[in-house]
Amino acid sequence: MNLVRVALDVPLPTLFDYRLPEGLIVERGDRIAVPFGARERVGVALELTQVSELQPQRLKPVSRVLTDAPRLDSAWLEFMGFLSGYYHRPLGETVVHSLPPRLRSLKPLPRKIRGNDPPAPLRSDFVARNTLTAAQADALSGIQASLGRFEPHLLHGVTGSGKTEVYLHLVAQTLARGAQALLLVPEIGLTPQFEARVREAFPQTRVSILHSGLEAAERTGAWLAAARGEAGIVLGTRLALLTPMPRLGLIVVDEEHDTSFKQQEGLRYSARDGAVVRAKLAACPIVLGTATPSLETWQNALAGRYRTISLPERAIAGSRLPSLRTIDLRVEAVEQGFAGSAIDAIRVRLACGEQSLVFINRRGYAPVLACDACGWAAGCTRCSVRLVVHAADRRLRCHHCGAEAPIPHACPTCGNLDLRAMGRGTQRVEETLSARFPGARVLRIDRDTTRRRHELENALEGVRRGDSDILVGTQLLAKGHDFPALTLVAVLNADQALFSTDYRSAERLFATLAQVSGRAGRREQPGEVLLQTRFPGHPLFAALARHDYAGFAAAQLAEREAAGFPPFVFEAALRAEAPKLEAALGFLKSAALAVSAEDAVRIYDPVPHVITRRAGAERAQLLMQSASRPALQQHLSRLAAWLHGAKARRIRWHLDVDPIEFD
Ligand code: ADP
Ligand code: ZN
Ligand code: ZN
Repeated sequence: MNLVRVALDVPLPTLFDYRLPEGLIVERGDRIAVPFGARERVGVALELTQVSELQPQRLKPVSRVLTDAPRLDSAWLEFMGFLSGYYHRPLGETVVHSLPPRLRSLKPLPRKIRGNDPPAPLRSDFVARNTLTAAQADALSGIQASLGRFEPHLLHGVTGSGKTEVYLHLVAQTLARGAQALLLVPEIGLTPQFEARVREAFPQTRVSILHSGLEAAERTGAWLAAARGEAGIVLGTRLALLTPMPRLGLIVVDEEHDTSFKQQEGLRYSARDGAVVRAKLAACPIVLGTATPSLETWQNALAGRYRTISLPERAIAGSRLPSLRTIDLRVEAVEQGFAGSAIDAIRVRLACGEQSLVFINRRGYAPVLACDACGWAAGCTRCSVRLVVHAADRRLRCHHCGAEAPIPHACPTCGNLDLRAMGRGTQRVEETLSARFPGARVLRIDRDTTRRRHELENALEGVRRGDSDILVGTQLLAKGHDFPALTLVAVLNADQALFSTDYRSAERLFATLAQVSGRAGRREQPGEVLLQTRFPGHPLFAALARHDYAGFAAAQLAEREAAGFPPFVFEAALRAEAPKLEAALGFLKSAALAVSAEDAVRIYDPVPHVITRRAGAERAQLLMQSASRPALQQHLSRLAAWLHGAKARRIRWHLDVDPIEFD
C-alpha cells in the first residue's frame, strides 16, 4: 500500500501516516488536505513509504493535493528538519508554522495572488550609486570569491562605513549568476531607508518584502514569489529566513548582533544562527554585518570559523567617527536629568543650525509613581513590576503585559494627595527640553509616537529634511538611520546597565551606545557624543571613546571564559509557568530528577524569573549548560521526550536553546 508521512500542526512529536487513494499522486513537499478528527487539515507530505506502525484499516486516505502554492523544495524541508531537531520543537508544528498563515488554511488562494506564470528569469539591473572606496572594494572581492560555495563572513564595519553598499554589490553579482539573495534586517519598520536603498539599486528586480506586519495577501504574495524563485531579492525580518528560496545564492544578516533576530515564542530560533546553517545547506556564502559583533560571532571569527573583513573607516570622505566625552555626574550638578554642560552643548548646536539627539532608553513620563508619606508605589496587579507614568493621556501602563489604569488622585493606602513621579522617560525629557529651549523644535520618537503605520517613516523623513532641532528618543532612534545635520548625541544615563546581573548587559550597552553614537557627524561636520555618568573611568566607556570594539570584546571574552558563560559554554533553559510559583518550580524539579544528566552537562537548581509574575502567571526556569554542544543536545532530546509524556496540569512549559533573555 502506498502511504505518505505527513507533518501536521499538532503539538506532538509525531508525524501522521495516511493512505494514498488510487490515482492520487503526492510528492515530498506537497501541501495536502487530510482528515484529522472531525475536520480536514493542511499537512505537508514529508516521506513516501509502504510501511506504517498503524493497522492498514486504521489509515485514512489523503483528501487532495493543494496546488495553489509550489511544492516545498527539499533544501527547505531539510532546513525545517534542522530547526525542529536543534530547537526541540515537533517537526509538524515547525513545518506548518513556517508557512505564511494564509497557506495553513484549506481555503484556496484568490487567483490574483496565485499567479501561474512560469518563473521569470532573474534580472540583474544594478544601479550603483557610489564608486566603492578602496576598503569597500577589498571587502567585496574578499566575499565575492566565495559565491557558489558555503563560507561565513563577518563584515565588521564601523557605523557609516558603507556596509550597505558592499551588500548591494554582492546582491548584484548573485542575481547575475541567476541566484536569489536573502537580506535579513532586525526590524524593517525601523529602517525604511534600507528598503528604499535596495529598490533604488535594483529598479527592475522583483523584491519580496517579508515581515509579520504585512497584511495576509501581501505576505502570501511575497512568499509565493520567493518560493517560485521569481523574487531575486527577499528582504525581511527573522521570519524571512523560513521562506523557501529554491535558487538561494547569498544570505546577508545586517546588524547581526541585534537581539530581535531571536524569536521569543513558539519556535524559539535564532535567525542569525539559523541563517548560517541555511547557507551551508544551500552551499552559498553568508555575510554577518555589524559595527559591534555579538560575542558569539566574534569568538567564531577569532577561532577562524568565520572570515573577518573590516571596514575601519567611514565611507564618506571627510566624515570621522564622533568624539566621545563623559560628563562626571559626581562633579557636575544635574537639573531635570541634564548636566549644565550637556545643556550648553545643545545650545551651541541650536545656534549653528545643527541637530542634537538626546538618548534615553525608557519611554513614558516616569518609571515610578510613588507616595513619599507611606512608601506606596503603583504596581501592576498581573506582573511583579512597577507601572509607568504616561503623562500625555494621564494613564499608568504596564510595559510587560499592557495593563493600564488612570493616574490616581491620591495614594490608595494613606490618602496623601501629593504623589510623585520619580525618575524620567522620554516624555519628561521632551517636556524639560521644550521648557529650556522655547524656540526650538523638539521631537520625541519612541514606540508611543509611532504606533500607526508610516508614522515612524514620516518622522524620520522629517528629521532628514531638518524639520526638528532636538530629537528625544529610545533605541528606535539608534538603529542605522542617516541624519545629515545631526552632530550631537547626549546619553542621559547609561549607568544602570553597567551593574546588571545579566552577563550580556555590558555587550548590549556597548552595542547600543556605539549605534546611537554612530548617528552623529555622518557628513563633514564632526560629531560629538556626551555621556552623563557617575563612572567616567569605566573601561566600557573608555573602549567606546577609543572606538575599540576589539579591546572591549577581548576583555568581555576573558571574563566570560573565566566565569564559564557563553560563548565558552552552551546553554538551554526549560521554563514553566503556572498560577502558583510552587507548581512551576515543582514541575522543573521533577524534570531535572526524571532526566539525569551526563557528566558533561550541568543542571542548575530551578529558580523563579527575575520578574516572577507576568500577565498573571508565575514563572520559573531551569538552566542547563555544557561545554559540548552535542552533549547538551543529547540531554535536551531525552528531556523533550519526557516533557511530551509528562502530565502537567495547569503548567505551560517551553524549551529555549541558546537563550538570550532571562527576565
Ligand atoms: P553602514 O551601514 O556601514 O553604517 P551605510 O551603508 O549606511 O553605512 O553608508 C553610510 C553613508 O555613506 C551613506 O550615506 C552612504 O550613501 C555613504 N556611502 C557609502 N559608500 C560610499 C562610497 N563608496 N562613496 C561615497 N559615499 C558612500
Ligand atoms: Zn501613601
Ligand atoms: Zn503587567
